[in-house]
Amino acid sequence: MRDFKPYLDWIDQRHDTMCQLVIEWANINSHSYNLAGLSDFLTCLRTAFSALEGEMEDIALDPHQVINARGEPEEISLGRMLFVRKRPSAPIQVLLGIHLDTVYPADHPFQRVIRIDDRRLQGPGVADAKGGLVILLTALNAFERSPLAKNIGWEVFLNPDEEIGSPGSAPVLTQRAKRYHLGLLFESGLMNGNLVSERQGTGDYTVVVRGRSAHVGRDPYRGRNAAHALARFIIGANALQDERNDIIVNVAQLSSNGAVNVVPDFAVGRIGVRIARRDDQQTVQQHLEQLIAKLEITEGVSATLHGGIRKPPKVLDTITTNLLENFRICGASLGLALEWHPTAGASDGNILAAAGLPTVDSLGARGGDTHSPREFLEVDSLTERAKLVALFLMKLAAGELVFSPTQSYR
Ligand SMILES: [Zn+2]
Repeated sequence: MRDFKPYLDWIDQRHDTMCQLVIEWANINSHSYNLAGLSDFLTCLRTAFSALEGEMEDIALDPHQVINARGEPEEISLGRMLFVRKRPSAPIQVLLGIHLDTVYPADHPFQRVIRIDDRRLQGPGVADAKGGLVILLTALNAFERSPLAKNIGWEVFLNPDEEIGSPGSAPVLTQRAKRYHLGLLFESGLMNGNLVSERQGTGDYTVVVRGRSAHVGRDPYRGRNAAHALARFIIGANALQDERNDIIVNVAQLSSNGAVNVVPDFAVGRIGVRIARRDDQQTVQQHLEQLIAKLEITEGVSATLHGGIRKPPKVLDTITTNLLENFRICGASLGLALEWHPTAGASDGNILAAAGLPTVDSLGARGGDTHSPREFLEVDSLTERAKLVALFLMKLAAGELVFSPTQSYR
């Protein structure tokens, strides 16, 4: 512990700087579709991360493919994704990352950070995930000051589209995950500071139904009612949740065209799905496809299913448990009693884990009320988490942890 102390003390001295940086960064609007805001934020980050003296690269992402209100495919441009890489030939390779985007659009009333009291900051993205971004940067800065840094190579990824399901960055992450032995993600931790062990898988589907319009009074049987067909689909989709208590089907949006005296020839529905088991990805997909096929026969409409499970469930395996236990050891030497629990929301940790990378994905700040105009951050967690991650990296580099990642993780 003695060898690590100067670097941990350095983090303690950074408390005010870390708070300042969170305020500065959270005051920049970086909603997933605010390309100007994301670009301004990326400029700040390039400057901040240049202190690490790694190799920087920012890449364009494929646009987000969505189905619009008319049931047609549409592309929405995404922000750029930043990478910083150092020592790619060191024996242990770690991938660290967090998203840049927030859920608050540029015209949302929640735009500025305020200090609630000595313990808390309130503002857009302070916990999810700009606090985590500051923790990542500070932990790596401390680690780079230590001579042990030579034993670990790392890459930082900062993606601009996590809050909309990582449509552009997911394939990039899946591909890059293969270069690394372990992943550290800086999503906010649980309120009591504990880590996340497992996460649900999430998906979204859009159903587009096209029927035939007709006069309701004169010719009702010549029509093919798209709204009626969509209603049948929704009831069938919900049956999955009724049968299985570990699958959630959330009917989010339903709409159709026409007046009440016209048989509607168009309807669109959107549903969200959450699953706990990896093989349920297939169960859900097949169930929905069968419903679509049945609609075409029984309702005489044409129906199309778009979407899928975007983030498979993150399940706790032996290697990840081992990784969490090492974080518990590091936490104990800092006076933290760390436990881990499953949580509902998905993160990019789901994507990295599905690509075979053991990942701890809740190393960001303690905070709460995320995705709401009451979002807050507990400021003491900034140095606390940065020290936890820096200590983990130093112990890993010193060979003090009870595993050898090069053997057990790849
Ligand atoms: Zn979020």
